[in-house]
Amino acid sequence: MLSDHAPHFLHFRDFNGGVLPNRAPRFLWQVLWLRYRGRVLLLLLATLGGIGLHSFEPLLLRDLIKALQAGGDAVGWRPEVWTPLLLIGAAWLSSAACNRLRDWVDALTSPILKLEVQSLLFTYLLEHSPDFLQNNFAGKLGQKIRQAGEASVTLLAILSNDVLRLILAMVIGVSLSAGESWMFPLLLIGWTLPTVVVSVFLARRCLALSRVLSDEISTCTGVIVDVVTNADIVRAFAQGPFECIRVAQALGKEMNAAKKLRWFILIFAAVLYTGLLLFQFAFTALAVHKTVSGSMGVGELVMVISLGAIIGNNVWGLCTRAIDFFDQFGVLHSALDVILIPHANPDLPEAPTLQVTAGAIRFQNIAFAHRDGSRVFQNFNLSIRPGEKVGLVGPSGAGKSTLIRMLRRHFEPQSGQILIDGQDIATVSLSSLNQAVAEVPQDPGLFHRSIADNIGYARSQASEDEVVEAAGLAHCHGFIMARPQGYQSIVGERGVRLSGGERQRIAIARAFLKKARLLVLDEATSALDSETEHAIREALWQLFEGRTVIAIAHRLSTVNRMDRILYLENGSIEEEGSHAQLLARGGRYARLWTRQLDGFITEEVKGL
Ligand code: ADP
Repeated sequence: MLSDHAPHFLHFRDFNGGVLPNRAPRFLWQVLWLRYRGRVLLLLLATLGGIGLHSFEPLLLRDLIKALQAGGDAVGWRPEVWTPLLLIGAAWLSSAACNRLRDWVDALTSPILKLEVQSLLFTYLLEHSPDFLQNNFAGKLGQKIRQAGEASVTLLAILSNDVLRLILAMVIGVSLSAGESWMFPLLLIGWTLPTVVVSVFLARRCLALSRVLSDEISTCTGVIVDVVTNADIVRAFAQGPFECIRVAQALGKEMNAAKKLRWFILIFAAVLYTGLLLFQFAFTALAVHKTVSGSMGVGELVMVISLGAIIGNNVWGLCTRAIDFFDQFGVLHSALDVILIPHANPDLPEAPTLQVTAGAIRFQNIAFAHRDGSRVFQNFNLSIRPGEKVGLVGPSGAGKSTLIRMLRRHFEPQSGQILIDGQDIATVSLSSLNQAVAEVPQDPGLFHRSIADNIGYARSQASEDEVVEAAGLAHCHGFIMARPQGYQSIVGERGVRLSGGERQRIAIARAFLKKARLLVLDEATSALDSETEHAIREALWQLFEGRTVIAIAHRLSTVNRMDRILYLENGSIEEEGSHAQLLARGGRYARLWTRQLDGFITEEVKGL
């Protein structure tokens, strides 16, 4: 499906057996080598051709000047003159052709490389646990992925062009100038080696600063996106000035990090440029000295000076790019560091598909504490029969949502097992588990897309008729058709153009469409007004038909027709039974029921 739209969109599971190296050099190497070996080799060859052919120029200049000198005052167009001249022209042309070939291969490779790096990281990110995603700013993660794509392209350009050019220029420079005097290669190597050492030292520091800046930029984006996403709340609590201060602080930190990096780059460039000038002066002075003392001719002088210029330019080019290199290296490194941490609760290799035959759920000796150490369950047991409808009630913080999230494998218990039709959910593939369980969550996540797309999200193969049918069952059809664009109405970011009740009904429509045997509802009716809740109660019961259901509800009217109601407190089942049994028992559930009867939903419950 995906490949129809984007042939280069690459899922990380289809790459290198699903293993992404989290070190930047290895990551880049594997992506390039496994995907674009041919193009990279062509890129390298074209670069070598470009600089190699250009390096003939000093040699040919030497021959030309020698020929001119040998001819006295009237040289004439002798073969010794026009041959090197034509060869210089040919070297220039063929070098330029190689450079354009290089650009062409680069134009073919870089955009795809960027796309694939981003798609690899994006698909990897999607499989992170909800916990990971909640603990990181969405904007920050998005930006890391974008930056990693850009950085990979820059790194490829530097490695395949600037580094290679310098290496070849050095080899040619050393070998040609060695013929004139051993002092030239000595000077060349004696300057290049310390320059490289100093560059690496300075660039390492640059890397650390660049990482700090990259983190500050991502955090800053995250802070801004967070505020914009919650702009309504900011306005409602008149906290605009407070948020401005927070954003200003984040921007300030980013600015300081950027300043430090810029200062550093400035010093870096100054040190290296001074070194380059000293080298070129020494190289030229040595050549002049050799000429003056008679051990070198003017032709050789021109050749050596021209070689020095070529090498000097390439070293300077590489040094300025070295900052970019380490900067982008840092960016890629930081993106991989954040995104490529191992997935929590990954599928076991060859994990089988969950086969839901009847729909029985069993929590067996479950012990679970959150990562911060807060314990929720200890030796928890619960068996749900196929097709049974179970309501979960109890005070906030009792562990109701955690129980459902364990069933969805958002959290993995430290001990014990959760079985669906006898299969341990920890051992089956997560996607088959997700397919088997439909959920109507408290906060129905909606995309900034059409209503039809949002409902159809439950089953990509669903026809338009099926979407409309599901919407009808969830009592959405009316309000959808009342909009000018009907099913094509765009719902806005996170569904802001819909009311809370409408959003939740869309989530219910999705559950209808999913046709999964197991259904979990987490406060599914909390955003509905009493009238709407009453109206869709029958629809919900229709949805429950033939499914095993676990429903969390604060409004007891949502669950009082369930086969069994569990009153959960501090992670243990304090009471269980049907609504009538629990009322007869006169315990906590009964007290809660009476309170709700007396309270604001009296009218609603009377209307049952
Ligand atoms: P309920 O759904 O019954 O209101 P939850 O299952 O959401 O309760 O929470 C149970 C306990 O776990 C609470 O004390 C809550 O603060 C804690 N908790 C929930 N989610 C997390 C989390 N991601 N990290 C740490 N503690 C959590």
